[in-house]
Amino acid sequence: MVCGKRSGAAMLEMKNFPMTEIYTREVCKQKLGVLDQGFFVCRHCGHGQLGRVIDVKLQYGNYHFRSGQSVTGQQSAKFFIDYLDKFIADKKLDLVVEIGCNDLYLLKLISKRAKKLVGIDPILKGREKELSENNVIAQGGYLEDVSLQGSPDLFICKDTLEHVANPKDFLKKVIDQGHSETLFAFQFPLLDTLLDAGRFDQIFHQHLNYFSMHSIKVVLEDLGCELVDFTINHNLWGSIIIIFRKAAGRKKTKAFSLITRKDVMSRYKVFRMNMEVTKQRLSFLKGKNVYGYGAALMLPVLDYHLDGAIGRLTCIMDDDINKKGLRYINLDVDIKPMNEVHDLERSAVILTAIASLYNVRAMLSKLSQHGPRQIIVPLNTL
Ligand SMILES: [Zn+2]
Repeated sequence: MVCGKRSGAAMLEMKNFPMTEIYTREVCKQKLGVLDQGFFVCRHCGHGQLGRVIDVKLQYGNYHFRSGQSVTGQQSAKFFIDYLDKFIADKKLDLVVEIGCNDLYLLKLISKRAKKLVGIDPILKGREKELSENNVIAQGGYLEDVSLQGSPDLFICKDTLEHVANPKDFLKKVIDQGHSETLFAFQFPLLDTLLDAGRFDQIFHQHLNYFSMHSIKVVLEDLGCELVDFTINHNLWGSIIIIFRKAAGRKKTKAFSLITRKDVMSRYKVFRMNMEVTKQRLSFLKGKNVYGYGAALMLPVLDYHLDGAIGRLTCIMDDDINKKGLRYINLDVDIKPMNEVHDLERSAVILTAIASLYNVRAMLSKLSQHGPRQIIVPLNTL
C-alpha cells in the first residue's frame, strides 16, 4: 500500500486468527470473525500490512473505547499535547482539524490554542449538538463528508492511520486540504518499536497498516512532504508521533534502515519463547484458582498466542464497573470486579491488560497491595 510493489510472501501466518475488541452481553459459543490472517513486510519499502481485511461494519459495530474515560487515553493525550506545543505554542492558529477525534477529549484540552477546532469522527453522528462546546465543533462522518470552510493550520490524526485500508490515499486527501505552512501531526503504532519489544501481540485484524521509519519516509516523499520531527511514546505501544508539512523544495528527510525478514523472524522467535514460558507456568497451576487482571480489548489475541490459556482462567478481574457481566466474542471467560474475588492472597494472578505500559505499571502496583501468591506477566517488559 505504500510503494506499490509486490511485498513477497507473508512473514507470519496466523491460522484461525480471532476478531477482538468486541464485548457482548451473551455467552457466545460460536467463533465470530475468525479467519486465516497473514502479516507482510514489504522488502522494498519496509511497510508492514495485513493480508486480509475484515469488513469494517463488523470491526466498529460496537466500539467501546472512549479516550477521555481511560487512564491510557488521558496520559497519551497529555504526551501528545506536550510534544505538539513545541511546534504550535508561539503560533496563532485559526483552524485546527482532528480526524478520528473520538469523544473530542484532545481538542477540548487544546481549545484555547486556536480560534476554531473541528473534530471529525463517524462515531459522533447524531450527537454533534450535544458534544460541541464553545469553539470546539463536532462533525459526525468521514473527512470527505465534511466541508471545512478554510484550510486548517494544523491537522491532527491520532490512532487512526493504522485502521485505514489505503493509507496513502487517505494521507493524500488530508494533505490536499492543507496550505503551504499547515502542520500535520499524526500518531500511530510504529513497526520498528513493535519489533524492538517483540510485541507480536500488537498485530490484530483492526490494524491494517504497520508503518516503519523507512515506509513513513517513502510515503511522505512520494506525497511531496517532509518529516519535520518525530517522537516515540514508549509507554503507549511504542507509538510514533510525526510532524510533517508540504516540502516545497525544502530539505530531504534523513535515511532510515530497512527492516528485513531476518529482523522480523529473530524477534518473533523471542516472542514465541515468552508465550511458551507463560503457557507452561500456567499449566503448573492447573486445578488452582488463577485470575486474570484487566479485561483488555485485545485479550482474545493474547489468548490465541497462549493457545487458549486465558479461556481456562477462573475469571478476569477488571476495575471498570461497566464491564461487569460483559463477555468477549471469541473468548469464553467471566469478567468481574476485583471486590467479588475473595481468595486473592491464596491465588495466582496473570496480568491480562498488557497493551500499554502506563496500565501495566499502575495495575501491578494496585495488585501488589492485595498480595496475591504470585503475579505472572505474560510479556516480561515493564
Ligand atoms: Zn513497499
